[in-house]
Amino acid sequence: MKALAPLFVVLCLACGCALPPITLPPQKTIFEKNPSQLNCVFAGAVDFEKKIITETLSIMPAKVQQAIDKIVVDEERTAEYTGNMIAYCINQGGWMEIHIWRPRLERCIVWHEAAHAYDYHLGLDDDIKWLKIIGDGPGHTEGRSYPSKGVLEKYGAQDWLEDRAVWVEFIYRLIANQSHPFRNIPDFKDARYIQKLGILLEQGFIDQVVHDTVLEAINSNK
Ligand SMILES: [Zn+2]
Repeated sequence: MKALAPLFVVLCLACGCALPPITLPPQKTIFEKNPSQLNCVFAGAVDFEKKIITETLSIMPAKVQQAIDKIVVDEERTAEYTGNMIAYCINQGGWMEIHIWRPRLERCIVWHEAAHAYDYHLGLDDDIKWLKIIGDGPGHTEGRSYPSKGVLEKYGAQDWLEDRAVWVEFIYRLIANQSHPFRNIPDFKDARYIQKLGILLEQGFIDQVVHDTVLEAINSNK
């Protein structure tokens, strides 16, 4: 495992679609359902922020929550926040630390960075299965709109790790009744969507119930 893995960030653009919830309970119920399995250190977060982060993560599998060792809410964007970064996850010899810039502390950011922490925890330098099905999926080209070819948004097109983190982020957006692209996929018959969903289940980013909910959403495209 690398002593210091590269930093990753999400811009977390809202997808803009406003589909009504179909089979999911109200958001409040979703976040009250599961006891937290989080066992991490917090820094910089006030009690209210800790509560939001904890309940946000509570809808992810226990092993994803437990992959996170520390969550820092930063008042300022320090030197580590390069470019347009608003959050990042860093792997320091197996210690997974998530940083989120306070003004952008949002549920989608938490899910996205948790996905990076869990990916680091899995320790896959490159996930052959994911790369195999990517085909010509990633790699943004001028004029390409999303979702397409199994990639959910432009941010995910840059590399496989971001692709996965965007997938995880959007999956939990759907579960939490937030906007998401799964019922607005023009090429939903492209097998890569369902293949990627299957890998995320297999590797433990999501459980069977979540998998089936997303599958239903993908298949509801017409
Ligand atoms: Zn990212």
